[in-house]
Amino acid sequence: MKLTSPKSKALIALLATSLWLTPVWSQLPPSSQGLPSLGDGADITLSAERKLGDRIARELYRDPDYLEDPVLDEYLQNIWQPLVKGAQARGELTPELQERFAWKILIGRDRSVNAFALPGGYLGIHLGLISVVNTRDELASVMAHELSHVTQRHISRSMGDQARMTPWLIGAMILGMLAAGKSAQGAQAMIVGGQAVAAQSQLNFSRDMEREADRIGYGVMSEAGFDTQGFVTMFGKLQQASGLNDNGGFPYLRSHPLSTERMADMQARQQLQTPKASNLDNDLIQAMMSSRARVLAQPGVDALRAWANEASDKGVEQLPVAKRMGILYGAYLSFLQLRDFQPARGLLLRLKKTAGEHPPAMRLVQLLETELAFKEDDMRGAIQSLSAVTRQAPSSWQRPEMIFLAQASSRLQVAAPTQNNAELLASATSALQRHVLLNPQDAQAWQILATALSAQGRPLASLRAEGEAQLARMDVGAAVDRLRAAQDASRKGTAQMSDHIEASIVDARLRFAQGLLKEQMMERPER
Ligand SMILES: [Zn+2]
Repeated sequence: MKLTSPKSKALIALLATSLWLTPVWSQLPPSSQGLPSLGDGADITLSAERKLGDRIARELYRDPDYLEDPVLDEYLQNIWQPLVKGAQARGELTPELQERFAWKILIGRDRSVNAFALPGGYLGIHLGLISVVNTRDELASVMAHELSHVTQRHISRSMGDQARMTPWLIGAMILGMLAAGKSAQGAQAMIVGGQAVAAQSQLNFSRDMEREADRIGYGVMSEAGFDTQGFVTMFGKLQQASGLNDNGGFPYLRSHPLSTERMADMQARQQLQTPKASNLDNDLIQAMMSSRARVLAQPGVDALRAWANEASDKGVEQLPVAKRMGILYGAYLSFLQLRDFQPARGLLLRLKKTAGEHPPAMRLVQLLETELAFKEDDMRGAIQSLSAVTRQAPSSWQRPEMIFLAQASSRLQVAAPTQNNAELLASATSALQRHVLLNPQDAQAWQILATALSAQGRPLASLRAEGEAQLARMDVGAAVDRLRAAQDASRKGTAQMSDHIEASIVDARLRFAQGLLKEQMMERPER
C-alpha cells in the first residue's frame, strides 16, 4: 500500500489538503496576493497568523463548494463549542488566543474524509468526514485533535521554522496546497517557485506534534464530556481505510499518518477509562446528520436513487432505531434532491413515528418538513411547519428555525404583502437583529437579514447588512462597496428619514472597513 509519495506528502504536509478551492487565485503571480508579513523567521505572531488565516478563509468563503447549511452548522457547533470550552478549562486555550483567533468552522461540500486546521483558528471539515463517523464522539475526536494543533500553535511553529522562506512564499504555498486537491490546473499552479518545493517538505506537522495533538485532544474531549472511546474507534476506522487501496477518499490520513505508536498511545490511555453509556438522542441525531452530509455532498443521481429506495426495503423496520432513522432521513433528503416530492411526503409519517418520544429527533424531522415546503415554493407551508417555533418568544428561537423563518416570511411578504405577513416578517427580522448583535461574525445571518430588511422596504439597513456579511467573510473590498452604496443611497435621500440612525452607523462602518482595506494594501509582499 502506497499512501502517498514523498513529494505529494510534502505538498499536503502543513495544513492538510484537498480543499475545495477554485484555482482562480493560484493563477495570479504570488506577489499580487498581498499576504501579510510574518516576521523574521521566529514563531509568527498571533496577529500575523490570524491575518494569514483570514486571507485563506476569504478564498474558501468564495468557493462554490463552501457549504452554508444551518442544520449541519448547528450540529458541528454543538460539538465544537464544548471542545473550545474544554480547552479553555484545561488551560490549553489562553484568553488571548481565544480573543485573537477566529474559531470558525467551514464546511466543504466534498466527499473525501478530511478535516484540517488552518492558520488563525479556522477549521475546515469535509462532508465526507461527517458522513463516515458512527458516533458524534468520533467526530469530536477529529475536531479535538485539530483544535489542539491550533491551541499548541503547531502551525506557527511549523512556519516559524522556515526562516529561509519569505512570508509571502509561505502564504502562497498554503493557498497553493489548498487548491491542489481540486484540479490538475491547481496542482500545477501550486509550484510557485523552486524554493517553495524544496521547503514544503519541512512544513510538516512533526510526529511529536501529532502525538501532542492526540494527547491534548484526548484530554479536551474528555473534559468536554465526550466518550473518549470515539478516539479509539476513529483510529480504527482510519486504520482500516489505510489498509484499503488509497483511492483518495481519506486524505485525512495523508496529513495525519497513523503510526503504531499513535495507536498504542491511544489504546493505553483508553484502557484506564470506563466507557460511557450511549445516549439515544445523540445517536439519532448523529445518524440523521451523517445521512444529511452524504446527500448534500452531491453524490449523483444514481446514488440518490439508491438511498431513496432504501426506505422501502422490508428489513428497515427491523433495524435498531438510530440506524432506521438514518436511512429514512437519507431517503427523504434524496427524494428532495431528486425533486420527487410525493414519496418524500409519504416518508414524513414514518420519520415522525420513528422519532417518537425523542424531541431532538422530532425537531430535525420538522425541519425536514420545512425544507420540503421551500423546495415546493410553498412559503405558507414552511411557516406552518415552523409554527411550533413561532409560538415561542423570538429570543428563544434556535438558529436554523430563525433562518428558515426569516427566509420564508421575506419571500411571503414580497409575494403577498399583508398585515399578517408584515408582522411575522417584523418578528423574524428583530430575532435576526438580536442574533447578529451577539454573533457579528455570522455572515449567513447578516445575508438573510439583508434580504428580510429589503423585503421590509429598508434599503439602507439592507445594504449595511450586506456589507457586514462581506466583512464577516473577510472580503473587505466587497464590504466597502456595499457600505459605500448605502452611504450614497442615504445622501441622495432615497432612504427614508427614519433611517438617519442607520445612516450614521453606515458612515462609521464604512470608515472602519476603509481602514481595514488600507491596512491590507500596505501589507504588500516583501520585494
Ligand atoms: Zn494532526
